[in-house]
Amino acid sequence: MQAPASVHTSTDMRTCSACRVRVHRDEVHKNRYGQYICKLCRNDGVRAVGLRRFQHLLQRMPTALLAFLGVVLAMAVATLVVLAVVKAHSYSNAGMVEDLKSLVRSINRLAH
Ligand SMILES: [Zn+2]
Repeated sequence: MQAPASVHTSTDMRTCSACRVRVHRDEVHKNRYGQYICKLCRNDGVRAVGLRRFQHLLQRMPTALLAFLGVVLAMAVATLVVLAVVKAHSYSNAGMVEDLKSLVRSINRLAH
């Protein structure tokens, strides 16, 4: 025999992770992420709530892949830094050459 809704104690109630509605534990399904999803949400196709699912994916992502991505990122940053340094040097060299040329020109002018 099933008890009427009025005698449900608070410990028998679960909060749906998707819609935040309090429902009796018989009316919710606990998914593999430990979330309670009510019948209405399950009928809407909700099986898990986004953030937890994302964290789950991150946890399952192989560490090697993360390391690889980190190395690629580090190499990209290093290349950009080297390019920026080379560019800065070539600019300063060109400026120095121009300074020397103008210096030579002014000396020539003084000599004549
Ligand atoms: Zn729900």
